[in-house]
Amino acid sequence: MLSSRWKFQVLRWFSGFVELLFPKVCLACGDELVPGEDFVCLHCMMDLPPTGLLGNPAHNPIMDKLVGKVSLSGAVAVYWFDKHAAVQHLMHALKYKKQAELGIRLGRLMGAEWQYNCPMKEAFVLIPVPLHPARLRKRGYNQAEQLALGFAEKTGFPLAPHLLKRRVNNITQTGKTKEDRWQNVRSIFECTEYIHQPVILVDDVITTGSTLEACIAALNQKGITRIVVLSFAAARIHP
Ligand SMILES: [Zn+2]
Repeated sequence: MLSSRWKFQVLRWFSGFVELLFPKVCLACGDELVPGEDFVCLHCMMDLPPTGLLGNPAHNPIMDKLVGKVSLSGAVAVYWFDKHAAVQHLMHALKYKKQAELGIRLGRLMGAEWQYNCPMKEAFVLIPVPLHPARLRKRGYNQAEQLALGFAEKTGFPLAPHLLKRRVNNITQTGKTKEDRWQNVRSIFECTEYIHQPVILVDDVITTGSTLEACIAALNQKGITRIVVLSFAAARIHP
């Protein structure tokens, strides 16, 4: 039997060897990372396309998608999501490549952008868009919660991940009337209790906005309407 000191030495030697064979690479471009870089190289980090929407959460094209369907006070994404570009690679790694730590790193970035650019200075409570329990078991973590953890670290806002529960895994929209769809969207999530503080709903990527609409509908049903949507990325909106 090896002593624990020896085990430690062997492990250290082994991890050094693994790093030599498989150097850490940027999850956006695949280039080798240099000391001081974490998950994403500096070049990719500087190249992420900002939406510029953080300065005006209440009036922008993302807000226009949701306003009128549900009650909320703002909606923003930090970066644009373009096909085959860095943000898409990062979101793919976060969702499908077991890169839970990447979420925290990107969440801190969101926190810094929020503090620097967003005019909203209230103390918010963070609610990550929940995964269905079956999907959570499969993935091992909720990518939106990882982003919220990093965001919380930077801003000091508390997290309330259990306030919203996902009852249905997929949103089905085909072959249904407008009324059916409205009912369907309103039964996907459930809010467990009312809180009086304003809420930031944290998501990874906004595409159609249907998931967010369903989350906000559940919060609205409990009387929560001071809601700001904050997503790491959003598909570009063409007017
Ligand atoms: Zn890179």
